[in-house]
Amino acid sequence: MIDFNTPYQAVPFERIKPEHFRPAFDATILEAKIGLDRIIRSGQKPTFKNTIEALEQMGYPLKRIEQIFFNINSAETNKEIQQIAQEVSPILTEHYNDITLNADLFKKVSQVFNDREHLKLDTEQRKLLEDTYRNFVRNGANLAPEAKKEFRKVTSELSRLSLKFEENLLDETNAYRMVITREADLAGLPGFVKEAAAMDAKSKNTEGWVFTLKAPSYLAFMMYADNRKLREEMFRAYNSRGFHNNERDNQDVIRRIVDLRLRMANLLGYRTFAEYVLEERMARTPQKVSDFLKELLDASLPMARKEYAEVQDFARKSGAGFKLQRWDWSYYSEKLRNEKFSITDEMTKPYFRLEKVEEGIMGLANKLYGLTFLPDTTLPVYNNDVRAFQVFDGDGSFLAILYLDYFPREGKQGGAWMTNYLEQHRVKGKDYRPHVSLVFNFTKPTESKPSLLTYDEVRTFLHEFGHSLHSMLSNCTYLSLSGTNVYRDFVELPSQIMENWAEQKEWLDEIAVHYETGQKMSDELLGNILKSRNFNSGYASVRQLSFGFDDMAWHTLTDSLKVPVPEYEQAAMAPTELFPEVDGVCISTGFAHIFSGGYAAGYYGYKWAEVLDADAFSVFRKNGIFDRATAASFRENILSRGGTEDPMELYKRFRGQEPTIEALLEREGLR
Ligand SMILES: [Zn+2]
Repeated sequence: MIDFNTPYQAVPFERIKPEHFRPAFDATILEAKIGLDRIIRSGQKPTFKNTIEALEQMGYPLKRIEQIFFNINSAETNKEIQQIAQEVSPILTEHYNDITLNADLFKKVSQVFNDREHLKLDTEQRKLLEDTYRNFVRNGANLAPEAKKEFRKVTSELSRLSLKFEENLLDETNAYRMVITREADLAGLPGFVKEAAAMDAKSKNTEGWVFTLKAPSYLAFMMYADNRKLREEMFRAYNSRGFHNNERDNQDVIRRIVDLRLRMANLLGYRTFAEYVLEERMARTPQKVSDFLKELLDASLPMARKEYAEVQDFARKSGAGFKLQRWDWSYYSEKLRNEKFSITDEMTKPYFRLEKVEEGIMGLANKLYGLTFLPDTTLPVYNNDVRAFQVFDGDGSFLAILYLDYFPREGKQGGAWMTNYLEQHRVKGKDYRPHVSLVFNFTKPTESKPSLLTYDEVRTFLHEFGHSLHSMLSNCTYLSLSGTNVYRDFVELPSQIMENWAEQKEWLDEIAVHYETGQKMSDELLGNILKSRNFNSGYASVRQLSFGFDDMAWHTLTDSLKVPVPEYEQAAMAPTELFPEVDGVCISTGFAHIFSGGYAAGYYGYKWAEVLDADAFSVFRKNGIFDRATAASFRENILSRGGTEDPMELYKRFRGQEPTIEALLEREGLR
């Protein structure tokens, strides 16, 4: 371990300067290489301890530097840090390739693996051994020299192509802007949207108002603009990115990517790329995913059709004499929502004061798991906005450091995330407790107004806090298996389950207090929040599933694509279609999640995790939402176990059975 000579080995942020990172990387990479060399050159018979465990632990110091550096790069970056990131990223890739493609090392790992039945390993050690071995194999360690060469070529071309896909998409997104010069064309748009568009125009030295395909601008325009023709234009622009037969077209990029992914899977002995990916997911097989998607689709479609009819009906009553198209959906839905539930963010925000929400969430962790949070101003932080807490377990023992970083600023990415500065692990019996950070972009308080959250932001806080519990309550030995180091279709269970409390009147009632009057939220408003939850949930479900179908279609190919990209996509998504057909659009050429993100053959995972969290929460619902025994079981079987066992086994130990979709359907009002 790196010795920081601080309480709990906390990162001494105030003493770290950007110029310290390169030497720290160089030193810890060198240290890892020396460790690697020692393992390879050891004349001793390879054992779990001298090979697998040694390999695991030799990487800890480097891992620590990586985490500190990349966390800072996300939350408090500058040109200097970004420059270092560009320098060290390829060095790190090479370092990790040198490990997995080292034939001598793989020989030793294989020897231990092949001997596994005769070793007296506990569950976690066994899992580490299997994961280590599989990691080598899945990265080509087992291939013959010629195939190894091809594998390297395929994977490096793949990483270039996914960058290409991303670049094309970004360029296409930036290439479009809608300039509005007649004020009448802004009808329907709220003041804050118009203001932002006017500011955008000004910054581009353009007259009038500018709308773009970027998230806030595009979504607001589609939701509020009365001008149907302009909505259609916007929609078509967004949904034809990478589909213009120009130099930024992504169709051939997609063809090549799916070809190479298939080739890579074939080289490693899998029939399809989805088979390769799903081997390391709870779902396991493409068949299971496809059954899962179909089952949910069958359950969601009737409600989605009903909702479509209802919005259509509402539109007709408001004077629309046409069949609803994709560019009408968000517009009429929002109006119908307001009519049905008379609820807006402006009405609820005064009741969700950040300090009160924080108190409520920490209080929830206390009720469920007995945790207490003690602010500690002596712990170093990387920005004065960040607050550090010592977290204690129910028995008073120290559990974790928790950093809370709430507000936007230069040098911080958008969105919300949870991350670690140190992950829980044990070395030689010493338990290193985790240092966890929650990063948000909530509205900063002003002199006259505290920070007030929207209801969605309250959910976001609960969600990220759930990830932090997974990390803080970890009780494992090996760092690479601890905390949130679990399969991607499992990792959102601990986070999403926390969002369920935002739907419990009992809990909401505690935190929803008006920041000026001190009055509790009225039952009516609270009821409207809860009732509006399932508005158009059938439609949302079908839409999410449609992306899952598209994703699986691309990654279960067993041969090169023989038909045009849009044709293939349309066939894959046809079972989910609610709207009249539109030509000239294509989802896949802009589907970054699966062609440049990490969601290939994994998009279903969003829905999968929803099934898990709804199913798991049904136990709380049955036993009481603050039931200590249920919480203790969730902690013991899931939160404390990280990836030390197969997640389905962990889940069954908590739930007593495999999850079913029933609880989700009930929660979403689909049954
Ligand atoms: Zn999450």
